[in-house]
Amino acid sequence: MRRYLLASLAAAFAVIALKLGAWRLTGSVGLLSDALESVANVLAAAFALLIVRIAGRPPDSGHPYGHSKAEYFSSALEGLLIGAAALGIAGEAVQRLLAPQGVHAVAAGIALNLLATLLNLGVARWMLGGARRLRSIVLEADARHLLADVWTSAGVMVGVALVPLTGLAWLDPLVALAVAGHVLGESWRLLARSVDGLMDHALPAEDIVAVQQVLRDFASEDLSFDHLRTRRAGTRRFVGLHMHMPASWSLGRAAACRLRVERALTERIAGLTLTIEVLPQGAESLQDSAAADASAPPRQAP
Ligand SMILES: [Zn+2]
Repeated sequence: MRRYLLASLAAAFAVIALKLGAWRLTGSVGLLSDALESVANVLAAAFALLIVRIAGRPPDSGHPYGHSKAEYFSSALEGLLIGAAALGIAGEAVQRLLAPQGVHAVAAGIALNLLATLLNLGVARWMLGGARRLRSIVLEADARHLLADVWTSAGVMVGVALVPLTGLAWLDPLVALAVAGHVLGESWRLLARSVDGLMDHALPAEDIVAVQQVLRDFASEDLSFDHLRTRRAGTRRFVGLHMHMPASWSLGRAAACRLRVERALTERIAGLTLTIEVLPQGAESLQDSAAADASAPPRQAP
């Protein structure tokens, strides 16, 4: 896995160097935007490597809930970096639209860019094969992203090649604006994901439905569940809930019953950290009754 990530990182550096070369040669802002897309890829791969190291660390006394939230910092930083670069390129493209500038040495520039794109294509196909063998979603996502970039590059090259053929100088900044817009969208998605994670978003609906299904199977006249709360932190999922039972049950019986529910839930949902509070029927803890009060409609002041 690390071998694939490292190799894709090395290839990405070569691709960026080739694409920046193509930009310097031609002065085309379209080719510059294509290089930006590859920079975004390198950042993604570098952060993925870093995160595998940090988020994978076991919980320690300073971080008893683990380090899985590290991934949200990295995607926020990545989103900010590529967003800033995309805005810079969009600004440059707008300036060029207002005051068109010619591009030069287009054939040589496109040849360099084509070489970089073919390298990307080769690496993407190699990684897809690796993803299938290792059954890795991360690797597959990385490879699919690279493949998508191959199409962007093809579009950029066609746009830039058309400039000397048609004499339409605005085609180059137009292509750059389209790519910058695409990268900005990516940046927004990364930022939104980080904010969502840092704000303790609930688990996806299908996980909540799965939890509720398990609880329904256990529920009976004696046993009921409430105060279900979920949150996500990276690949870890947290679920907390109340288990209400007759006050006459012994502590041993309550614990045995709780263990069965715990087993069923952890079998159903991967990476689950579960907190089950055991309470007699009709009784709630102080903070949960207070929470219920807070959610009630505000009463009129006397
Ligand atoms: Zn309760």
